[in-house]
Amino acid sequence: MKIINVRTAIIEGNFPWVLVKVDTDLGISGLGEAYWGAGVAELVHQAKPILLGEDPTNIARLVEIMIRCLSGEGSQAGATVTAISGIEIALWDLLGRVHKMPISTFFGGRFRDRIRIYADCHAGETPDPLDYGRKAREVVAEGFTAIKFDLDTQNPYTLDITDDSHPRRRWFEPFNRIIGSREMAWMVDVVRCVREAVGPDIWVAMDMHWKFNVNDAIKLAQALEPFDLIWLEDPVPPENIEAQRHVTHSTKTPICTGENLYRKHGFRELIEKQAARIIAPDIPKMGGLAEAKKVADHADLYYIPIAPHNVASPIGTVAGAQVCAAMNNFLVMEYHALDVPWWGDMVVGGQPIIDSYIHLNDKPGHGLELNDDVARAHVRPGTSYFGDEP
Ligand code: MG
Repeated sequence: MKIINVRTAIIEGNFPWVLVKVDTDLGISGLGEAYWGAGVAELVHQAKPILLGEDPTNIARLVEIMIRCLSGEGSQAGATVTAISGIEIALWDLLGRVHKMPISTFFGGRFRDRIRIYADCHAGETPDPLDYGRKAREVVAEGFTAIKFDLDTQNPYTLDITDDSHPRRRWFEPFNRIIGSREMAWMVDVVRCVREAVGPDIWVAMDMHWKFNVNDAIKLAQALEPFDLIWLEDPVPPENIEAQRHVTHSTKTPICTGENLYRKHGFRELIEKQAARIIAPDIPKMGGLAEAKKVADHADLYYIPIAPHNVASPIGTVAGAQVCAAMNNFLVMEYHALDVPWWGDMVVGGQPIIDSYIHLNDKPGHGLELNDDVARAHVRPGTSYFGDEP
């Protein structure tokens, strides 16, 4: 069996979902997805000549060749790794279709048949903490047993309310990473309202998008301890592992990070220094299924759970769920498309998330087929739907 083509389709959801098809001379194709990122589809097409004529079942070898051949494109991290991730996922799907086995089998089989999913809720309708509680109750009523809010995007006490160009810029004095006492009190109120709205049994996480200094992050994390968050995400900037570690070791609130790290090398220091209590690799971004499994196994040496960041379509999400089934330290995985009513309709059979779980079956590969009519209706204008060009 040989690879004869590599094709893409960019679907405009709440993020651009870069779908990747790898075709073979046996007429069997694999379908993968790469995380949103400028130029990712072009990079997939750039990798195509490396893959043509190769045996698609030598997945690790092909990934290593792509990393080496695309070094000039920056294949240690970033968009090139993301493009390779989409191809890698398509190759695992293809392998599953060839051998008529689900992807999880190739990673050692399943610890669980259902993968717990949390819903990213963004924020409340207004900065009123009660609105966060109302939103939380709504999402839980839809069946989700785990939810996450952005805790940093609409604080009413911001000192910098002049810049409406992007909501995340509306943050205090935006450059010195301070949380003032009123801002802190608002954040604690938001978390209190969410916790009171949903009760003790729902997992609640909060995301901070790397904004704050070490001391204020610790003060906030400690102030949130009574509300039993499943995690507080990215309270400090991501570059300094020592600072991250200091925050993590100063609070009982579990600190989570990792959505912008690539490959096992990117996670090594974070894991070995135990600088986070939970890590959040983005599977269709950081290197793909096998790389995510290696990161999970490395993290498991330190008893660190995995909670994948995820903004993918059903293809990347369910493919990720297949490898999460094979991670003993899997905790919960993100769903980021509450605002995209057709998300589940993109695949035959409809919404794969039922009551906060993806229930895996024994279909080959990731087990999904695209609903071409729905996917094609949302293809990025001016781009092809699995043509030979991006
Ligand atoms: Mg995040």
